Amino acid sequence: MPIYEYRCTGCTREFELLVLRNSPTPACPSCDSQNLEQLLSGFAVNSEGTRQASIDKFRRSYKASGQRRDEQVAAVEYEKKEREEHGG
Ligand SMILES: [Zn+2]
Repeated sequence: MPIYEYRCTGCTREFELLVLRNSPTPACPSCDSQNLEQLLSGFAVNSEGTRQASIDKFRRSYKASGQRRDEQVAAVEYEKKEREEHGG
């Protein structure tokens, strides 16, 4: 089964998704963000160094994005609203 692990770069939540060929773009179940980092499940990525490196990377991109993150959140909120209004 093609189950992949992802980490949301928005809220750092980690989750698993079953990804099929015709699946829509995966989104974070917590904040609905599509800014996901695919984790390499099946590999032993337990080294503290690798972990620290990705944390640093996350912090840097978080800092660099700054204002843009608010815009992304606003866009996500807007999409959610649209879906609620037209969904069903
Ligand atoms: Zn998230």
